Amino acid sequence: MYLFPDSESAFSADYHQARASFLKAATAAGARLQQHACPAPGPRGEALHTDTAWVGDPAAPKVLMVLSGTHGVEGFCGSGFQVHWLRSGLHQQLPGDTAVLLVHALNPYGFAWLRRVNEDNVDLNRNYLDWSRPAPENPGYNEIARALLPSRLDGPEAAEADAVLASYRQRVGELAFYRALASGQFIHPQGMFYGGTGPTWSNRTLHSVMAEHLAQATDVTCIDFHTGLGPYGHGDLISDHEPGTDAAQRVRQFWGDGVSESRRGQTLPLVQDGPTHFGVTRALAHARVTFGTLEFGTYERELGRAALRADQWLHVHGDPSGPEAAPIKQALRRQYFPDTADWKEAVLFRGHQLVRMALAGLQGARAGRGQPVHH
Ligand SMILES: [Zn+2]
Repeated sequence: MYLFPDSESAFSADYHQARASFLKAATAAGARLQQHACPAPGPRGEALHTDTAWVGDPAAPKVLMVLSGTHGVEGFCGSGFQVHWLRSGLHQQLPGDTAVLLVHALNPYGFAWLRRVNEDNVDLNRNYLDWSRPAPENPGYNEIARALLPSRLDGPEAAEADAVLASYRQRVGELAFYRALASGQFIHPQGMFYGGTGPTWSNRTLHSVMAEHLAQATDVTCIDFHTGLGPYGHGDLISDHEPGTDAAQRVRQFWGDGVSESRRGQTLPLVQDGPTHFGVTRALAHARVTFGTLEFGTYERELGRAALRADQWLHVHGDPSGPEAAPIKQALRRQYFPDTADWKEAVLFRGHQLVRMALAGLQGARAGRGQPVHH
């Protein structure tokens, strides 16, 4: 007997099923819906959308915003939670001054194509920079850029590329290797973890959603659902708030001792402010923003890197519609969406827990975590 007997049906097999489930559940919950058409089509030429569902008073000063699909293929997870929450009836218990804003498939292209990146090959979670300033440099990426994308995935050229990567990694160490590869780069438009040259469509869409729905808000809590980091099924809530700030204190008050703080070195560091956290906190400077990036662990990190690299190769050198696509897409999907009952159950448990704590936090109450916060 599962903790959530209906857990399987909340999670979808593809983007379109996820969208249909979300719209149906949101409509049944009486949510106000809006859709935003993505400029790029799906794999069969079909239209793609980011959808929003607002539950509660349109003028509510306190809002919980839940994002799914920042990293396309990771959207299976966040969408499943959003659908389950809408179906749960818990929205009927919202206090009068509190609303919930669900943003479904922020990067619908990546969700539909089973990619991390968007239609511009941009990693959306590296794209929320302050673009009035020069983009950060990442000299390490330059050194490994060619080796990351050999023209073939097997044979002598691939073996040589792997040797270059292995030798670079040994020379600079794990942390510098991680920074070079994954912290974001802004000069190789076909490369991995590319941050773009300006705000992408998804970035602009999130900003217009915030401008329309959150201008009146005084308190906004945001949970951005991701997958692929950490132990299988474990939901790590990561805070990028600066230690010592009111926001960092609220994160602890809301979500307790299980929070990981990137600025205290509790997660791998990003060298620039490209993640969603920074876009949201800048855009909502008029409100008290409490932001958490929720990472659900899946399989080994090396498997994830290999899957992302193969997918990048497919879209740069291969044929995403050809016969070589299926195993690559299958591996990527599995890496970012373990399609197992126990993993989905873990996502729902942790998701509901963090949403409950966030809503309690917004009410100014301790979220039942037992111990008071000491400073
Ligand atoms: Zn992610």
